[in-house]
Amino acid sequence: MNKDAYIPYGRQDIQPQDIEAVVEVLRSDWITQGPVVPRFEQAVSDYCNATYGVAANSATSALHIACLSLNLGPNDWLWTSPITFVASANAGRYCGAHVDFVDIDPETYNMSVAALKEKLHNAEKSGTLPKVVMPVHFAGQPCDMPAIAELAQHYGFRIIEDASHAIGAKYNGYKVGACSHSDITVFSFHPVKIITTGEGGMATTNDPDLARRMRRLGSHGITREPKEMDTEPDGSWYYQQIELGFNYRMTDIQAALGLSQMERLDAYIQSRHELADRYNKSLSLLPVITPRQKQGTKSAWHLYVVKLDKKSTTLERKEVFYSLRKANIGVNIHYIPVHTQPDFKRMGFKTGDFPIAESYYKEAISIPLFPHMTSSQQEAVITALKEVLV
Ligand SMILES: *Cc1c(COP(=O)(O)O)cnc(C)c1O
Repeated sequence: MNKDAYIPYGRQDIQPQDIEAVVEVLRSDWITQGPVVPRFEQAVSDYCNATYGVAANSATSALHIACLSLNLGPNDWLWTSPITFVASANAGRYCGAHVDFVDIDPETYNMSVAALKEKLHNAEKSGTLPKVVMPVHFAGQPCDMPAIAELAQHYGFRIIEDASHAIGAKYNGYKVGACSHSDITVFSFHPVKIITTGEGGMATTNDPDLARRMRRLGSHGITREPKEMDTEPDGSWYYQQIELGFNYRMTDIQAALGLSQMERLDAYIQSRHELADRYNKSLSLLPVITPRQKQGTKSAWHLYVVKLDKKSTTLERKEVFYSLRKANIGVNIHYIPVHTQPDFKRMGFKTGDFPIAESYYKEAISIPLFPHMTSSQQEAVITALKEVLV
């Protein structure tokens, strides 16, 4: 292997059987809306012990129809984490809802339950309680869902888990996606995530009404169910648009790739854990803070984020980032706090609004981690980090 080849922070794994599965669909009668999408939905929902899976053409689309199915609309509030991809917050904005953030926990980088509690307490007084709270399982580590669900009970909000990073993760014996402490969970199948369909996403739920509504919203708001129509069907061709929906459907081509990838999901998680363990051991003497894992959680290890330990290094994140990039290590930053994006600042957010997220951002670097990363690739990353940091 070329020692100096670029090592990306994440990369899909495509095997001959994946290609075969996709080609089989291409040669079949249906390339979209055939039998493979429902099989993929079944495979994912079975895997995470949820009753229903609703596939979509991205996690962003799935988050949007998830919010709509819970009737999120103008005058409602959606709260999420500032350390996420912009899509989590945008899902609320697409519905015309107000969006706000809850600062992160300084150790797990997930939404802080203490901060959530305090914000809910204040929102109750001002009459601005959220309709939907969207915790994000950052880097694949599950949020404290039992605590968030307890607050949902008390304050009456609904929960959508943004599990874009977390298919294959568990907490207290529950699989992420089982919706044991939420209404809906959403996965992403973008190529950098845990399994891929090219572009794609899926919502899981145990509520038949939410599943039906999401399916309808993802396909133009059209129903073919006579009992949902306001008249008798004219005939077997008949359908009705009963609300405004979208074309968010996944294709059979994508689903075939996803279904084939599902076979290796557990192996991917296993491999990500081994790589993370090796990083934990090898980086322990460097001036970085390695990811802390909360007791009772099993991460999907989508990302391995190190934070510069400012107590033991004077190096700036920028210097470390550029030195690693120069050494062909594809480091990345997850994430720029969403509230500091210009399009969010225009809504009134300011730098300083979520200080823990902002200080996390100044020191965080994601280093390469993907299931088929070789030990010599990992060694190259570790060596480069040592050279830069000591
Ligand atoms: C990737 C990602 C999304 C969006 O996923 P797409 O499938 O690309 O639409 C949403 N939220 C988080 C946290 C993500 O990482």
